[in-house]
Amino acid sequence: MADVNAVPTPGFDSFGLHADILRAIAEQGYTQPTPIQAQAIPVVLSGRDVMGAAQTGTGKTASFSLPIIQRLLPDANTSASPARHPVRALILTPTRELADQVADNVRSYAGHTPLRNTVVFGGVDMNPQKDTLRRGVEILIATPGRLLDHVEQKTVNLSQVKMLVLDEADRMLDMGFLPDLQRILNLLPKQRQTLLFSATFSNEIKKLASSYLTNPVTIEVARRNATADKVEQIVYEVDEDDKRAAVVQILGERDLKQVIVFVNSKIGASRLARQLERDGIVTAAIHGAKSQNERMQALEAFKQGGIRALVATDVAARGLDISDLPGVINYDLPYNAEDYVHRIGRTGRAGASGEAISLCAPDERKQLVEIEKLIKRELKRGQLTLERRSRSRDDRGDRYERSDRGERTERTERHSRHEGLRVGRSGGSGAPRRVRPEDEFFYKPYEPSPSASDAQRDSSRAAQEAGAPTAFGALPEKAPKRQVAALLAGFPRKAGN
Ligand code: AMP
Repeated sequence: MADVNAVPTPGFDSFGLHADILRAIAEQGYTQPTPIQAQAIPVVLSGRDVMGAAQTGTGKTASFSLPIIQRLLPDANTSASPARHPVRALILTPTRELADQVADNVRSYAGHTPLRNTVVFGGVDMNPQKDTLRRGVEILIATPGRLLDHVEQKTVNLSQVKMLVLDEADRMLDMGFLPDLQRILNLLPKQRQTLLFSATFSNEIKKLASSYLTNPVTIEVARRNATADKVEQIVYEVDEDDKRAAVVQILGERDLKQVIVFVNSKIGASRLARQLERDGIVTAAIHGAKSQNERMQALEAFKQGGIRALVATDVAARGLDISDLPGVINYDLPYNAEDYVHRIGRTGRAGASGEAISLCAPDERKQLVEIEKLIKRELKRGQLTLERRSRSRDDRGDRYERSDRGERTERTERHSRHEGLRVGRSGGSGAPRRVRPEDEFFYKPYEPSPSASDAQRDSSRAAQEAGAPTAFGALPEKAPKRQVAALLAGFPRKAGN
């Protein structure tokens, strides 16, 4: 592995990229390639397979998109005939949000070339996607489920794909996409270039790579499971019931223009968002129970700066590229230590610095230990003297939540983490009793809209992955595997280009 820090980083013009691509790069305001770009672009241009370990936020999308566009330029043409625009590069992503983001980037980078590109993902009408595919596109960005729907309906032909990207491959495996990936890979020509990107190189990823990559060049720009170096990380020990006051105080004391506040459940996200609003912080929540429109509006408002705190669950926030985010707050510590790395990857992106603030309740110490084990460092402990406490539970006015079907239910409330802690306290038996996270998202099969065949496929696949839920009560050592970003509907799509 080359040490890019040891040599001066070459500029974009040193790669031999076409002037139309360089123009697009300049329009994006990029002046220097990021380390993953400096390493990957020449290798991809040379035609070699790549196994890239790059955290989100490192500029990995451009590291594969730019050389793909360059390599496809000899085939670029302005013919109106669909036959002259077969799919030549396929980029697979685990989630709709990531697919959408990658597509936005590719659209910009290829904007001055005649190469066509589009994105297909589930949860939205297939017909506009079919129309665009029929007209022909050279670069196709897709989630696996929806791509297979198009394959089944013969609206896409993958026999001329010569470049394949598996983006966030670890997430795809986590989400149970392996069978779909295998089906897709079997439809592609054997003679092709394959680029696999993953935040971590687990054994499963290595196995996938050894089956489908040929003599790949390994490119690693961050230590395995390392957290972004530019992110200042701190943890405060706070009682569960004081966390909300802690968030308000942190936002009041620090110059954090915008933050994502991570919680472990949909219900927790909705509740916290409402409470922060009452505390005078402009807030929105994104999670799996929100409609596509609600998520899109919240995200747009956040990106435009109209919202200060975006309260999000892990799945909802996965892959979101929100640049210049000054900080993230872990309101709940994640059950899965790797999610900590993904969460704090939201800040300190592309060289900017950021703050990752974690609130650790007494019953979350074990999660903290797991996180520190994974990132191989001890997080700095901070002291937070709360000026005021959160209002009592009864003041919160949120005792009842609406279930996904809309009926009012107290069941979820009864099984919430807050309740678990409350029981522990009132019992006076020392450590509060931990309860299973109440987010039905983790247990319940998704009920998509009739058009959401992709989501349906994805959720049932992930439900199989996660296994049947056990009774409420003891918290499993690890939460069951996350049930799909596919549940996260993507955003309604412009019909491609
Ligand atoms: P990614 O890791 O691909 O999601 O990229 C993270 C962010 O970095 C995106 O907002 C990109 O637009 C931005 N970015 C990518 N490459 C560069 C670069 N060379 N200089 C500055 N920003 C970049």
